[in-house]
Amino acid sequence: MVELQHLRLDDARALLGRDSTLALPAIEESATTYLQCVIDGLCELSLKDALTGLSNRRHFHAVLDRTIDMVARSGDPALLLMVDIDHFKKVNDTYGHQAGDQVLQAVARALAKCVRPMDTVARFGGEEFAVILPNCHAYFGETVAERIRMTIQDMPVSISVGSTIRITVSVGGAYAPEWVRSTGSLWTERADIQLYRAKSEGRNRVFLDHQPEIFVSAEEKNMLFGHLALGEPAWIESVAGDPPGNHANGAAQRVN
Ligand code: GH3
Ligand code: MG
Ligand code: MG
Repeated sequence: MVELQHLRLDDARALLGRDSTLALPAIEESATTYLQCVIDGLCELSLKDALTGLSNRRHFHAVLDRTIDMVARSGDPALLLMVDIDHFKKVNDTYGHQAGDQVLQAVARALAKCVRPMDTVARFGGEEFAVILPNCHAYFGETVAERIRMTIQDMPVSISVGSTIRITVSVGGAYAPEWVRSTGSLWTERADIQLYRAKSEGRNRVFLDHQPEIFVSAEEKNMLFGHLALGEPAWIESVAGDPPGNHANGAAQRVN
């Protein structure tokens, strides 16, 4: 039986004590209950971004991989949005780093309000955020991406008493390929391409990669068919993109 007084828990307690949402039970509780709460609290902290409270990049990657599995199994569409604050460096340069931090926190709150509880909003790094939307059909994807852009465009951000500024974001998005087991980095790359389009076409805009016809890259094709040493199976040519047993959405898909 573990005795709590024999464990060095001070650092863990201090870390958890800094986060108001991660309260520990009274030390008089059973050692098992207390330790479970410490472990749960530390796990939660390890998945959070310290500045915004959103999911951090580690959690983002875990959810992205889980979503890819789910899409491959169910065929339900899932959308990944990359959201980047426009000209954020200017905010830091003009108003200071602390004001920049307040902008990041305001954008994080706005993003969380724009999506469903089942969606994951993460700080991808710096002033870039990512949103994973499982079970997200094309119409909803457009709507939510536009909602994000407009909410942030219309939102005054307080940076000091009586002083507010306006900012905008660019949004790029891509749907997960529904029948190919892709990778998180390929999916992210496709959303990033759309984000760069939004930036280069003037910022404060949304671009989504809808791909009614799925382009399957050489790398993705290899992941799908690489194990088949004797060439491609007949159904690739005859029913392009409609593998046996996977007729979930009936959309025309193409293997290049
Ligand atoms: P663009 O419209 O092309 O995205 O331009 P940008 O200025 O937003 O992008 P750039 O990559 O030039 O600058 C991003 C800045 O974000 C630079 C960096 O100092 C700042 N930054 C990154 N992380 C933080 C942070 O945690 N807090 C603050 N205040 N600034 C940060
Ligand atoms: Mg930026
Ligand atoms: Mg950036």
